[in-house]
Amino acid sequence: MPIRFTDTYSRQLEDFAPLAPPLVRLYTCGPTVYNYAHIGNFRAYIFEDLLQRHLEARGFDVLRVMNLTDVDDKTIRNSLASGQRLNDFTAIYKAAFFADLDALRIKRAQHFPAATDYVPQMIDMIRDLEAKGIAYQADDKSVYFRLSKYPDYGKLAHLNLDELRPSGRIRNDDYEKESIGDFALWKAWDKADGDVRWESPWGPGRPGWHIECSAMATALLGPELDIHCGGVDNIFPHHEAEIAQSECCTGKKFVRTWLHCAHLMVEGEKMAKSAGNFFTLRDLLDKGWTGREVRYVLLTVNYRLPLNFTFEGLAGARAALQRLDEWTARLADHAGEKSEVRNQKSEIPRVEAFFAALDDDLNISGAMGALFDLVRESNATLDRGDLTPAQAAALLAGWQRVDAVLAIERDAVTVPAEVHALVEQRQAARAAKDWPGSDRLRDAIAAAGWIVKDTKDGPKLTPR
Ligand code: AMP
Ligand code: ZN
Repeated sequence: MPIRFTDTYSRQLEDFAPLAPPLVRLYTCGPTVYNYAHIGNFRAYIFEDLLQRHLEARGFDVLRVMNLTDVDDKTIRNSLASGQRLNDFTAIYKAAFFADLDALRIKRAQHFPAATDYVPQMIDMIRDLEAKGIAYQADDKSVYFRLSKYPDYGKLAHLNLDELRPSGRIRNDDYEKESIGDFALWKAWDKADGDVRWESPWGPGRPGWHIECSAMATALLGPELDIHCGGVDNIFPHHEAEIAQSECCTGKKFVRTWLHCAHLMVEGEKMAKSAGNFFTLRDLLDKGWTGREVRYVLLTVNYRLPLNFTFEGLAGARAALQRLDEWTARLADHAGEKSEVRNQKSEIPRVEAFFAALDDDLNISGAMGALFDLVRESNATLDRGDLTPAQAAALLAGWQRVDAVLAIERDAVTVPAEVHALVEQRQAARAAKDWPGSDRLRDAIAAAGWIVKDTKDGPKLTPR
């Protein structure tokens, strides 16, 4: 079965067909680095991570670009308020963003272009648009995109332009559908910009947000992208404007497949900085949740469905991960020597079902259903004593394939020497039938962060 996605442009489920397989050119709108990213932003990045990892599991070579918006209305406003220069200010949030990507096990893109490094390319595009009569400089010295020159504007968001009355020019990066109009490509410098300015053929100023992504995407991936992603709030006006600018410059169809994830919600409202209802990853780590647990919550709801964020959801993730940890530990024990995995090739129907579900528009809930069916069935087979070590090894190999996409396996932890020593003392106490001593040692082991279980093969340790 081919891979299928629901393309935002056509609103149809379509077979995925990149231009030059196995290469997939993937562009994903990245963070505006004016604050710590909230977990709503990370829902988008984790959906994109799942997309990338699944395509790779299916043999594609994904070339991914994620931009960093380090100059726009918000970064300028907040850097001025903090009294820092723009670059010093955004550097703090760039570093925090990369630390968060690691904590959430999000694969690094090949390129993380910063907008401030691509201003010459943006100027080139605007000059090209001006030469074609599509861009013009207005009285306020800013340069605008002439909407009347691009009749396809609004098709991604499925707007009917005839019903909307254009409201003149728009200088803001973000605006409502109701106030559609010629949008800014280059914003002439004014006092509110402080020392943030670049020279240009139109005088000092700075790029608009939309031209930033068009320039970085085409500079690094060429004129035709296979997939472009973002959250649904990016559809209008940002991605609509990207299409208009890019296609008018290159004359080519900019994007073959548009994918947008639904929002992360809190009590029925979009999680957003402006609404003040957000959690950063740090907030959750400070409350004792792990990056792995947050990843699980953000990963396991289908990307086109809104995801309601709750602490019960996080607790559910903790329980589900524990179930998987126990299962893999049990399989590893049972496989013994064979865990080196000789049976790489054996097909496990539930594992194939996991990947088939993801082929179907990244149906992660179907995929997780197949995985937990496998856990339940193989645990039952183990309970009956019917699983051979070779079968356990094959299941572990299947799990490794699955986890290359999910990235939720427990970090390998080594048991500290002092915990080993406590376990040995406890074994000695048990041999001497010193039960109170054995219990005290069990508590000491627990205090050190480990749970000891007595099995027929001797004591087994798991992290608490
Ligand atoms: P921003 O930093 O606001 O430009 O957003 C960065 C990315 O996060 C974009 O792709 C947005 O669509 C996405 N995003 C923002 N808020 C949410 C949310 N509550 N749920 C899911 N994605 C979001
Ligand atoms: Zn963008």
